[in-house]
Amino acid sequence: MKEYRKEIRADSCTKEPPSVTFKVHGKSIPADHDRILINGLKDEGEEDKILECLKQEINQDWRNRAMIKPSLESFPKPLILEVLKLLPRSNCQQCGQPTCMVFAILVADGAKGPEGCPVLQDPHGTYLEKYLARFRPEL
Ligand code: SF4
Repeated sequence: MKEYRKEIRADSCTKEPPSVTFKVHGKSIPADHDRILINGLKDEGEEDKILECLKQEINQDWRNRAMIKPSLESFPKPLILEVLKLLPRSNCQQCGQPTCMVFAILVADGAKGPEGCPVLQDPHGTYLEKYLARFRPEL
């Protein structure tokens, strides 16, 4: 049987009680056996989009459950200060964030990518891509 490997972008998992925290559209979404908690929604459209995304993930994984090998191994995350060091640090707000620090937090959290900073240039852009690539699990 072919092994099915897939990352569910989960921030954290607990065995007892069974729960998982998903990262969807930059939001941390905890789920347990009968509840999914979504905070800070802009509107119903965003709620529908996030729920649809979660529904597809969960249904696909349910269909493939016989091939899934559960793992509670946690992966290291990029360090916010390492990300910040590679950004221009001008706080110009062209990325839509109030400061480079806020943008760095979003990048370290996986909610934004280096391409979200329009003034980031090489070699720092390449260094940041390489740094973030170290934290992507091999699939
Ligand atoms: S666009 Fe780049 S340099 Fe400007 S605030 Fe955002 S992260 Fe900082």
